[in-house]
Amino acid sequence: MEKDIIKNSKKIVIKIGSSTITSEDGTIDKKFLENLAGQVKTLVDMGKKIVIVSSGARIAGVGTLGKWSRKEDIHYKQALCAIGQVELMDSYRKIFSNHGLHVGQLLLTKEDFSHKARTLNIRNTLFTLLDEGVVPIINENDTVCVEEIKIGDNDMLAAYTTVLWGGDLLIMLSDIEGIYTKNPQNNDDAKLIELIDNIEELENSISLDGKSSFGTGGITTKILAAKEVSRYGTNAIVAKGKKENIILRLLKGEEKATLFLSP
Ligand code: ADP
Repeated sequence: MEKDIIKNSKKIVIKIGSSTITSEDGTIDKKFLENLAGQVKTLVDMGKKIVIVSSGARIAGVGTLGKWSRKEDIHYKQALCAIGQVELMDSYRKIFSNHGLHVGQLLLTKEDFSHKARTLNIRNTLFTLLDEGVVPIINENDTVCVEEIKIGDNDMLAAYTTVLWGGDLLIMLSDIEGIYTKNPQNNDDAKLIELIDNIEELENSISLDGKSSFGTGGITTKILAAKEVSRYGTNAIVAKGKKENIILRLLKGEEKATLFLSP
């Protein structure tokens, strides 16, 4: 099913989770970025427009300035993101340019999405970048966001971006093949749910006190992000980002993932 959905989608947002963009040693995974750039190039050559929402600034900051890694103070966290964001974009710029792709950076906050003039400006910038063949790379602007006013995770940032841009498809690349019936980390009998066409039904099986074996943290926000875009008739996919050529393989029907089919 993913095959036809990706094939027919012209405007695709790809969200990259922290665990996907990071290597085991805590630095930016250049091999992954290299593979991502190749896939984006193929999709662009097929006539698709691609927007990337990327996490990883804080981790990249820690990699550069290890001495701050254990400081929990919010100012240190924000400072780490400021340093890491440059590292992150530097990696994107270098690696994407090897594939003939230019990148542009957009740092957004929650407020930007509820402010009419700002949403218009964001949309205009996105359209202009894309018209000129540049790949926009979006992240939350951590410098101006304290915990209380954060969108909080890039799954929702990616969902808001998809809605604002009018994307046809949101692909969330994670460290897992998709949504399972239980958390596969501690349940051997967990099964991959390949198709979700009723998100409410799925949500009912997640307990809000977090004790359910269904899902926690990252997977819950992916379901919420899929729910947000589905309200606008947009489909979403959760797939394992580190699998080589994952998007292209899904396009050939060679891999499994979870598809959220909008009504
Ligand atoms: P990312 O960094 O890609 O945004 P997270 O690490 O936050 O993703 O979330 C993915 C993790 O959620 C998986 O590695 C898995 O351990 C956990 N998880 C919990 N419940 C589920 C579930 N029902 N299906 C899939 N993954 C689950």
